[in-house]
This record gives sequence, structure tokens and C-alpha cells, in this order.
Amino acid sequence: MRLSELGRLEAPGPLYKMAQHQFLRAAKLMDLDPNIGNFLLWPQKSLIVHFPVVMDDGRVEIFEGYRVQHNTARGPAKGGIRYHPETNLDEVSSLAFWMTWKCAVVNLPYGGGKGGVRVDPKKLSEKELEKLSRRFFSEIQMMVGPTKDIPAPDVNTNAKIMAWFMDTYSMNSGNTTLGVVTGKPLDLGGSEGRPEATGRGVSIVASEACKAKGMDISKATVAVQGFGNVGSYAAKILHEEYGAKIVAVSDVSGGLYSEEGFDVNDLIRYRDENGGVIKGYPKGKSISNEELLTLDVDILVPAALENAITGEIAKDVRAKIIVEGANGPTTEEAEKILIEKDVLIVPDILANAGGVTVSYFEWVQDLQSFFWDIDDIRKKLHRIMTKSFGEVYATKEKYNTDMRTAAYIVAISRVAEAVKKRGYFP
Ligand code: GLU
Repeated sequence: MRLSELGRLEAPGPLYKMAQHQFLRAAKLMDLDPNIGNFLLWPQKSLIVHFPVVMDDGRVEIFEGYRVQHNTARGPAKGGIRYHPETNLDEVSSLAFWMTWKCAVVNLPYGGGKGGVRVDPKKLSEKELEKLSRRFFSEIQMMVGPTKDIPAPDVNTNAKIMAWFMDTYSMNSGNTTLGVVTGKPLDLGGSEGRPEATGRGVSIVASEACKAKGMDISKATVAVQGFGNVGSYAAKILHEEYGAKIVAVSDVSGGLYSEEGFDVNDLIRYRDENGGVIKGYPKGKSISNEELLTLDVDILVPAALENAITGEIAKDVRAKIIVEGANGPTTEEAEKILIEKDVLIVPDILANAGGVTVSYFEWVQDLQSFFWDIDDIRKKLHRIMTKSFGEVYATKEKYNTDMRTAAYIVAISRVAEAVKKRGYFP
């Protein structure tokens, strides 16, 4: 299959091209019908908005934001909204593309979408953050809805912002609509277990990957890059429930190493009391980002942003298993090197699918106005993650390929089937 000659606008940029190459590797191996393949290579709908916010000092600042729906063959689009000063249409399109495959790998009845605003939220006051959030959601209101496109938290967004989104949509439409976003606060239609869900999913597949490699997770050492929602919950659960030793962690403020392993709860408490960063934590020795990624550990969890593991770094990686908590943390060049070194990479679209899986539970609970308890959520999440890991691993064996390509094969088969059965409208 060849890349069709579309997309001369801003997207695809380099990240979207990398994502397309991942797709094409699988499409070739599974002999995908090129008519379907060419359709699936492009985002269905992309919206760019520019909107004003009156800042606290009276100035009017203009912000740029995006919402992209990659594909809706299997159901409404689903995926987070990130606030980041460097986000752009290329990044958001890639993330929307990955959401389609992520939802399909774990067999959720969703397509893929993503959104973003180019902003550093740390530079905004609480009031400015609320105004920006409400205006942005109003701008994309035409695209979203509980049966159209359901946003959620992502980098630098959280339950408080989801509550503003939900309220904004509800005020604009005149109906309280809980199901329009997930990741909401518990007392506003949120779900038990949603904040921990991505980290828990990462831990579950890390444990499955250890079994596949014949390793004992309770004796494993772990390095976690990124100590936000995903990284900190993954570290906590890997340590507390699986007995793994967390020997290194890092965030934007720097990295820390401890041979005996960290008390993760203490680290989380420190982070929460110190402006959300681990800088200045009194235990462990300080290490650079590159040192963390190339430590001699059993499991490496990149849980920050894209392109963290480059070809240069991959050459020195010593971990046996990489579990991609972040989206797109491994470059194409790095992946080739790591596969040659026999590193087992659990790809993002499988590894971090725990978040969207519990988002799905939240949406179902909202639509039924009937809420489940935490044991129920954890049990259902565990079942979905282990089953999906098993399906991807079996596909890897069947096609004699890597885990990412196998995950794409599982996902593409499901989406392609939906496209085929729905047909091409009109
Ligand atoms: N932003 C998360 C992701 O990248 C969660 C998306 C969701 O829950 O819809 O998977």
C-alpha cells in the first residue's frame, strides 16, 4: 500500500508521518485493502480555532486550539484535550490517529479524536484558566457531544477542567449532559478509578510483559520518566501491588535515582506540596533525563511526551521491557534499534489504554445514571487489559512481528471491518 497524495496543509507534519508509517507497516503485513487503508490514513475532520481571553490585567490575548476526529467508524470519537505551549495540529492529529487504534485494540465502541490548546497553563491565573477552558469548549461545541465526540483529560488538564467543559456544554445547550466529557470529578458524574486508570493499565501490561519474558515482576527494577498522572500512578501501583522496585523517576524539573528504591507515596506527597514537581526531594541522587532512560533496569516506563527515546538514546538503553505510558515516546529510528536488541516494547496504543477504558466505563455510567464501585471498575479494567495484551501477543507470534505492528493489526482489523460493513456513504 502506498501513501495517497493528500494532506498538503500543516498536517501531516513529522509526527503524523511517523504514525502513518507505523500504520503502513501493519497494513502491508496484513494485506489490508488499499481502499480502506487510504481512508484510514487521514483524519476525518479537523478544526482550528483562534479565540480571545480577557486576561486579569485587562489585555486581550488570542489563543489557538484544535479538535481533530481521526475516525468514527466504530463509534463516537474519543480522546483527551491537552494544554501545552508547543502543541500544534501535527501533534493533535497524530494523537487523534493513535486514539482510533487505542480504542480498537481494547475493543471499545469508539473512534479516535484529540484536542489541544497552545498555552502554558502554569502562566495563567485560576480565573484565566477557567475563561480559556470555557471559551475553547464553546468554540469546539459544534464537534463534540455524548454521541459525537467525547473529550477527556490529557497533558496538563484535569477533573476540574472537565467539570468546566461539561458545565459550558450544558449551559450552551440547556441540558445537563454528563456524558459529553470523561475524567470528571466523582461528584459530577465522574467514575471511581479514573484518575489511577492509565497508570493501573500500564502496571497490568508491565506484569503481563514480564510473564511473557519469563521475568518475575516482584524482583523487577523500574525507571519512570514523567511523574504526572500516568507516571506517578504507574510507579505507585507497580510498587505497592506488584512489588517492583522504583529506582528512578523524573519530571520537567529533573531526575532522581535510588538503588534501594523510592517510597512512591512519599514522593507523590512531596510533589503535591511543592508546586507539582519533585525538584528538591531530599532522597536519592540527581540524574539527567538521558541517564534515566539508559539505566540498567528491567522495565522502563516513558510517561512524558512524544519522541523521548531517540535513536541516539536507544543505542544505550539497557531495559528489557519498555511500557509506553506516554503517546508516541519512541521514534521510528529508536524502535528499530530496540527491536534488534530484543527489547519488548508494549506500545502506547495498548500500554496506556487503561485511561480511555475507564473513560468508557464513566460514559456508560453517565448514560445510565447508575454508578459502579471501585472493585467492579478494577476487575473490569484488569480483564480488558490482560485480554488485549494476550490478543496482541498472539498476533505478534502469528505474524512474527513486533508488538506495535501486532497491536495495529488487531486494531486495524476491527476498524476495517466496521468500515466495510457500514459502507462508503452515500
Ligand atoms: N488522554 C488519554 C489518552 O491519551 C485518555 C483519553 C480518554 O480517556 O478519552 O489515552
